[in-house]
Amino acid sequence: MVDLQYNEGASLPPNAPAWAVSASERLKDRRDKGMLLAEGPPEGIQRILLHSCCAPCSGAMVEEMVSYKQVEVVVFFYNPNIHPRREYEIRKEENKRFCQDLNVEFVDCDYDADNWYERTKGMEMDPERGRRCTECFDMRMERTALYAHENRFDAIATTNATSRWKDSQQVDAAGTKAVAEYEKLIYYARNWQTDVMTLRKYQISADNKFYKQEYCGCSYSLRDSNEWRKANGIPKIKIGGEQAGLGNRYFSDPLADALEESQDVVDEFFHQAQEVAAAGDSKQDRKKALETYKDRRKNQKEAGIEFGLNNW
Ligand code: SF4
Repeated sequence: MVDLQYNEGASLPPNAPAWAVSASERLKDRRDKGMLLAEGPPEGIQRILLHSCCAPCSGAMVEEMVSYKQVEVVVFFYNPNIHPRREYEIRKEENKRFCQDLNVEFVDCDYDADNWYERTKGMEMDPERGRRCTECFDMRMERTALYAHENRFDAIATTNATSRWKDSQQVDAAGTKAVAEYEKLIYYARNWQTDVMTLRKYQISADNKFYKQEYCGCSYSLRDSNEWRKANGIPKIKIGGEQAGLGNRYFSDPLADALEESQDVVDEFFHQAQEVAAAGDSKQDRKKALETYKDRRKNQKEAGIEFGLNNW
C-alpha cells in the first residue's frame, strides 16, 4: 500500500468552464478531508483485479483503488486488440512504469492478436460501439475473469469504463457476463466517467507526461480515424515518435485534454461514425458520407476549435 499525495495538477485558467471549476473544487475538498473516495468497493472485497487498457485511462482509477484500505489491487494488461505491435508496446510499457511508481503489481498477459482477429471476423466495417467492440470487450473481460478466478480475486473491474469514448453500458455488460461464469466473482461497476474522474485522469496524465494515443486501438479504428482525418484535411495518426499526427505527443494540459472528451464532442463523433458506417464497405459511399462533415470541421478549425479530433 502506498501513501498518496493528492496534488492538483496544473491549475485551471481563469476562463475555465463551470464544470471544470466545480470538479476541481470537489477534488480539493476530498484531498483536504484526507480521502479520495466518494464511495468504496462493495463490502467484502479484498482483492481486485483491474483490467487496464492504457496508462491514461488507468491513472485516476488506480489511484482511487490503491486508496481503499484493506484492499489489494493488481493491474492486468490484456489487450490483443491494439495494433500495430509498436503501439501496443508503448501503451504497455507506460502502464507498467506508472504501476511501478505506485508500487502496484502489474500482470503482463498475452498478445494473442490472431485470436482477436478470428473473433472479430465479419465485423471489420462495424463502427465503434458496434458488434466488434462488444466482442473486443467480451474477449478481454473473459480472460480477466479467468485469471481472477484462478488467482482467487474477489472482483474484477476495467479502465475501459473510465473513457467517455466508450459506451459504459457495453463495457459493464461484458464484465457482468464474464464473471457470471464463476461463483463468488464480482464485476465492480460504478460511474467512472464523472467530471471529477475525467479531470483527475488528465491531471495525472499531464503530471506523468503520458503518451497521447490518437485512436481507440485496433487496426479498424486506426483505419477509420485516418479515413476521417483525410476527408477533413487533418494529418494522419502517428505511431510512436516525438511528434503526434495532431496536437501534442504527450499530455500537458488537463483542461484542454478533458475538453477533448466532453460529452458534446463524443456525441458528435459517434453520430458521424454511425452515418459513415451506414455507407457500408463501398469506398465511394464512405467518401460521400465523410464529405458531409468536411466544411463543418474546417469551419470549427477556423474558429479556433482544435479539440475533439482524437477519439481514443
Ligand atoms: S474500436 Fe476499440 S473497442 Fe472497438 S474493437 Fe476496436 S479496439 Fe476494440
